[in-house]
Amino acid sequence: MNVHTESLIAKIAEGTNKLHSRIDAQCAAIQRVRDIHAPMDAVMYAGKSQHVDLFCTGCGQDDGNWSIWPCPTIKALDEETP
Ligand SMILES: [Zn+2]
Repeated sequence: MNVHTESLIAKIAEGTNKLHSRIDAQCAAIQRVRDIHAPMDAVMYAGKSQHVDLFCTGCGQDDGNWSIWPCPTIKALDEETP
């Protein structure tokens, strides 16, 4: 292996390590957002129509109500890209 090839391999390895670090940081950031927008069970309406809905722990609405989970933030994170 010549010096040029060794230098190229070293640069590729360095770039790969930087990308892994960035991916790890981005995954951690996404997890922090998911932790804020976690689902919470809430029992709705006592009696015959009682049921459990999921609400977002991070979102509220202007009228003071909770937002249904998955909220727009979680939907944006879970959207599949073509
Ligand atoms: Zn939310």
